[in-house]
Amino acid sequence: ATVAVTGANGFIGSWIVKLLLESGYNVRGAVRDPADVAKVGHLLKLPGAKERLVLAKGNLLQEGSLDSVFDGVDGVFHTASPVPTTTPPDVQKDLLDPAIKGTANVLSSASKSRTVKRVVLTSSTSAITASKNTWSPENTNKVVDESWWSDPEWCESIKSFYALSKTQAEKTAWDFAKQNGLDLVVMNPATVLGPVLPSTLNASTRIILGYLNGSKTEIPNRMYGFVHVKDVAKAHIFAFERPEAEGRYLLVESTMHAKQVAELLRTLYPQCAIPDKYVDDQPLLVGTYSADKIRKLGMEFTPAVEAIKECVESCRERGWLDC
Ligand code: NDP
Repeated sequence: ATVAVTGANGFIGSWIVKLLLESGYNVRGAVRDPADVAKVGHLLKLPGAKERLVLAKGNLLQEGSLDSVFDGVDGVFHTASPVPTTTPPDVQKDLLDPAIKGTANVLSSASKSRTVKRVVLTSSTSAITASKNTWSPENTNKVVDESWWSDPEWCESIKSFYALSKTQAEKTAWDFAKQNGLDLVVMNPATVLGPVLPSTLNASTRIILGYLNGSKTEIPNRMYGFVHVKDVAKAHIFAFERPEAEGRYLLVESTMHAKQVAELLRTLYPQCAIPDKYVDDQPLLVGTYSADKIRKLGMEFTPAVEAIKECVESCRERGWLDC
């Protein structure tokens, strides 16, 4: 089978391409510039790439730019979306437009193609948990599942524009799929960690780095879900291959409070500059994610601690961390 992956050079996109090639797929990777060796070099070295990977230029913001890339493919994995580490100067142009209009354009090209059977979209837990009372100190039994949706107004009010971008992009995708009869399955990963294939540092890897390199001085009152990048890629392919897959799927192996993250890291890497000061005396948030839905599809997860260790290993190898 032949499939297309947008954002093929990214942290998650690269793992999807790697596993697809390992499974024998022909892969069309859509990237901003196929000639940019610094960004795509690692893809060209993947086993099977020479024989079965073709890179193509795809401009998310240009309507129709993916029409020819999707013509003849059986499925589309849409992973491309900005994942900024700080608020970009122009939120609309740099973040919301590529996420939302980009998704609309990708889905429109996919629905024009006569061969695409299913689109798998990479959304996020940011489209699930960004609302006022998702995590709370009071309700210890709260289990967050796929029925939860982030609140766009709340996202705007706390200037969480990335969460806004993912929420609106996913909503746009569902509206489009319903109106056009497109077979869409959505992945909602939590914080994704593991071996980094690209040569650049991505946002989720940077979160763990922040706890180790001294740049984070206080432990925030926040919850994390963790999932191994290889499992995220595997789940995307599961979602494409299993006809019974439908709707959204939370991808998360374990839920931890930032305090637990700091404690775990201190045990694993006592020599690093792990923050030990809790940000305030607010009661700790509690709650858990449920990934039961994807588990029912047959998905098994790697323990989060392995994902963290492999993330740190990559950071050391790349020279991003020296403790
Ligand atoms: P990366 O930053 O590594 O990858 C993002 C990809 O999107 C890159 O290929 C990037 O291309 C592409 N992209 C971004 N903006 C544009 C644009 N304007 N035009 C064309 N391409 C663009 O991040 P991840 O791999 O982590 O993210 C991939 C997807 O997974 C995103 O949709 C993200 O929201 C989602 N996700 C990630 C999580 C995580 O913890 N990492 C958690 C949950 C969801 P280029 O390199 O050229 O900029």
